[in-house]
Amino acid sequence: MVFNFNAKLISKENLTSDALLLSFKSPDEFFFKAGQFVTLILKAGNAQKPRSYSILNPPSERGKLDLGVKLVDGGFASEIFRNLKAGDEIAVKGPFGHFVFDDKTGNDHWFIGAGTGIAPLYSMIKEHLLHHPAKKFRLIMGYKTASDLLFHEELLSFKARYNNFEYIPVLSRSAWNGRKGHAQDHLGEDLQNKTFYICGLKELVLETKELLLNKGVDPQNIKFERYN
Ligand SMILES: Cc1cc2nc3c(=O)[nH]c(=O)nc-3n(C[C@H](O)[C@H](O)[C@H](O)COP(=O)(O)OP(=O)(O)OC[C@H]3O[C@@H](n4cnc5c(N)ncnc54)[C@H](O)[C@@H]3O)c2cc1C
Repeated sequence: MVFNFNAKLISKENLTSDALLLSFKSPDEFFFKAGQFVTLILKAGNAQKPRSYSILNPPSERGKLDLGVKLVDGGFASEIFRNLKAGDEIAVKGPFGHFVFDDKTGNDHWFIGAGTGIAPLYSMIKEHLLHHPAKKFRLIMGYKTASDLLFHEELLSFKARYNNFEYIPVLSRSAWNGRKGHAQDHLGEDLQNKTFYICGLKELVLETKELLLNKGVDPQNIKFERYN
């Protein structure tokens, strides 16, 4: 079912220097699956444009709609988000999308993303990790520098708490003790009998898909969401 509602902004927080956490109130009847997105109908002056955003919170956190948005310089939505204040309302449509957790495809689930592409992966992991102790969850996230990392401390604490969760942050433009390069450089060789969930901009999604297909992964086991 698709809902239409005006969502009131409850809080706005800087996640990094160019990413915001926007937390809206959603109606009690609003249901979605982890991994789905909403479309915001955004207005500036006489212009009105739709923009889609993955829902960051897991559905079990009822009554709220959290979005993790990257601020693109001069972007239509980005400039609206920069000026948004608590109490402002935005028209929302959704949920939409088929990028959701598939609990029928085996026991190994790999989540691969970059930047705010973490949003649907984070929602799926938070929703399903606890309920599936026999399944393995691996999150491989790419960023430019350490200051771009999203939810890093929380994900490290998940890793310490849950034996079935592995978290691999990768940086492309910083010297550090962790993994370097891009998320898709760290898939390893053993790629059979796994389900892959890929989210981010075009390059990451296309490159990762191609790499997996070249290694013989069944296309049915590759799920993806492209942000552009
Ligand atoms: C299904 C779906 C879910 C999405 N979920 C999210 C989300 O959870 N968080 C999020 O930050 N974005 C998400 N996006 C992207 C989002 O819809 C917008 O495209 C983005 O916020 C830029 O919009 P804008 O109006 O500010 O920029 P526009 O005025 O549309 O200009 C966009 C320009 O910036 C470039 N660009 C640079 N970085 C990005 C980027 N990260 N995303 C898109 N374009 C970029 C584009 O290539 C383009 O040239 C999603 C897109 C889709 C289709």
